[in-house]
Amino acid sequence: ATPIAILVGTGRGAQLGVLITGPEALESADRIDTVILDKTGTVTTGEMSVRGIDVLDADTHADTVAHLVASLEHASEHPVARALAALSATPASVEEFTGHAGRGVTGTVDGHAVFAGRPAFAETHTGALPDVVTAAVRRAEEAGATAVVAGWDGRVRAVVTVADTVRPDSAAAVSSLQGMGLHVLLLTGDNAGAAATAARAAGIDDVISGVLPEGKVAEIRRLQAAGRRVAMVGDGINDAAALATADLGIAMGGGTDAAVHASDIAVTGVGLAPVVTAIRLSRRTMAIIR
Ligand code: ADP
Ligand code: MG
Repeated sequence: ATPIAILVGTGRGAQLGVLITGPEALESADRIDTVILDKTGTVTTGEMSVRGIDVLDADTHADTVAHLVASLEHASEHPVARALAALSATPASVEEFTGHAGRGVTGTVDGHAVFAGRPAFAETHTGALPDVVTAAVRRAEEAGATAVVAGWDGRVRAVVTVADTVRPDSAAAVSSLQGMGLHVLLLTGDNAGAAATAARAAGIDDVISGVLPEGKVAEIRRLQAAGRRVAMVGDGINDAAALATADLGIAMGGGTDAAVHASDIAVTGVGLAPVVTAIRLSRRTMAIIR
């Protein structure tokens, strides 16, 4: 039979906006020693905005970049895509849209084969990036932003700089987790500069950046192999595999269905404070049983 304390803990959790899938989730949450936080949408608000468009092709106008890229990104739900989609209120339709998880997007807009994504993804469509492009990418990344390399018909046309904001409660939540003796890490597909900027603002010392979605799973397995008991906190489709692999998966409030389904605990509130509540509640509940 399920101990009363677990039922009470689960019920209390629901009141506090912490939805627990079952007794195992409370036990896992009690045992973890490491908390991995996804960056975009977890430590940050995930509401990104365009900071600038560097047009790097003499024959191309910034309005054309905005129109073609925004049209393409209307078909994607990634936070980067939502920022870029806002560049056009009247998007054209996209044919053969493909989302490449953790990399970028491709499709045909107004007869052009358009791509937008991380620098290495753009390179697969154009070959080695020209120096002006890598320089613009470096500037964006050093400023702590995300550089989206965009172009069409086999040529890079622009670097669009996108940035997001650390959630106002992230630093306090990270500090609480650390105060509970938990080792906190930031894990992101975004570049090292953007990752370091978010980590600094949130008070996180350990950062793993530039990883593809499948690389997130590998990082968790590596930590588990080293004896760590790992909680993963994420919100996106791209976090689902990592959430399922971790000893404890926690889906953020407002997270995608894929993230919720892959998780042991889903929180309903805003930001990271409910995650702290979830782990604290699990510890208290298990302490009562012991
Ligand atoms: P995170 O781990 O921060 O949630 P992802 O793994 O989803 O990030 O994405 C990693 C990187 O891939 C992004 O920082 C961005 O450069 C690029 N990317 C992903 N999706 C898109 C998109 N729809 N448009 C442009 N770039 C994208
Ligand atoms: Mg995310």
